[in-house]
Parts: sequence; structure tokens; C-alpha cells
Amino acid sequence: MFIGHYGPAVWDTQRGHGTPLVTLWQGFLAVQFVDIIWAVLVIMGIEGPGTNATGMPIFNIPWSHSLLTSLILAVFAGALFRVFKPSAGARGFWVIAALVFSHWVLDLIVHRPDLPLYPGSKMLFGFGFWNYPILAYILEMGLVFAGFLFWQKVTTAKHPKYDYALWIFFAVMAALQVYVILIPGLAVQAGTFDQQAGPQGAALGVTTLTIFFGMAAIVAWIEKGRPSKFSA
Ligand SMILES: [Zn+2]
Repeated sequence: MFIGHYGPAVWDTQRGHGTPLVTLWQGFLAVQFVDIIWAVLVIMGIEGPGTNATGMPIFNIPWSHSLLTSLILAVFAGALFRVFKPSAGARGFWVIAALVFSHWVLDLIVHRPDLPLYPGSKMLFGFGFWNYPILAYILEMGLVFAGFLFWQKVTTAKHPKYDYALWIFFAVMAALQVYVILIPGLAVQAGTFDQQAGPQGAALGVTTLTIFFGMAAIVAWIEKGRPSKFSA
């Protein structure tokens, strides 16, 4: 999953009762933490795109996306959050850990089997919903749409521009999803997919990191103009 991961990022158990425990930009980084590690490993040449025995495109992701390491990354990120934001307490730890682990759960739905139980395990998980590119697109964008709709409801725009910005940002995300996931998915279906198209190796990792941190920065700016409706 790509853009769909951002749906759960709006989840914050304190929202509605005061200032957010986990801000949206922090949530944006948490839900993609597993893929941020992936991008770093891609730059190092340890992980990357691959193909399975039947020639279908999958990912070579033994470290970043195994069930075991995803759980470890969730605990690590939760602990890191507590160090940098002690006021968030145990609740902050659990919210971040759950957001980080949500990545694996959502990847499980769309990936073709390539998510290992533990690094090196031959047991690979993935329900392969990406084999239905249009439906998968609707699922991913639907998750983010629902998240943004909720976020719009629990925050107030200080200025109308922060309403426009939210939905323009959504449109940009929808376009990115078309380019990065839908078009390659339709090509796989048509048998015309070219693994060598687009950035490869370190360039792929750097591009991915630029997108993730760029999106977190944009949402941080929008967030500044959208305080919680319930905060004092
Ligand atoms: Zn992933």
C-alpha cells in the first residue's frame, strides 16, 4: 500500500478532548516508518523491487517488512516518541506503535505474497489485492478520504485557504497514487509492466524519502492552520 497508509494517521485518541496527542505530521511519519526503513535499505542495496517464481512483481523486503521486524519497529518508534515527547506518556507509545504496525496490516491486504514472517523466512504473506488495480485504488484513496473527512470535522480552518489546501493536497495524493501504483498495476494486468521503468536503486530510495518527508512537511503546514475544534 502507498497513499492508503495515511488514512489511519488521523487516529489520535485524545482528539476531541484537547490538543492532539500525536499531531498529523507525526502520524504521517509513523504510518510510513516501515517504508522509510525500506527506502534506507534500498539506498544501501539491501532491499528493492523483485519478481516471484511466476514472474509477478513483488518486493524483496526481508528486513523492513517481516512481521517480526515490523513489530520491533513499532515498539522502537513508540519508545522513540516517548523520549522526544514525554508528556504523551504510555498512551503516546501505544498510539505510535499502533500507527507504525498499521503499515504491515494494510500492506498485507494489497501486496502479492512477499511479507515474511521473520527475516529469511520462506513463509510469505500478502492477499494480493493489487491484482485488482482499480478496486485497490478505490480502497487506498477511500482510506485517506475517510481520514481527511474526519480530520476536517474535528479541526477548524483559521482561514479558508486551509480548507482548500487540505483537498488540493488530497488531489495531489490521488494523482501520486495513479502514477506510482495504479498505472504500474494496470500494466501488470495487461502484461506490459516494465520493472526497469522509473527510478532504480539509490534513486528510488531517495525519491521515496523525498515524497514521505515532503508530504509530512506539507501536512504540518496545513495543520498549523487547522487547530483542533476542542482545544482550549
Ligand atoms: Zn510497505
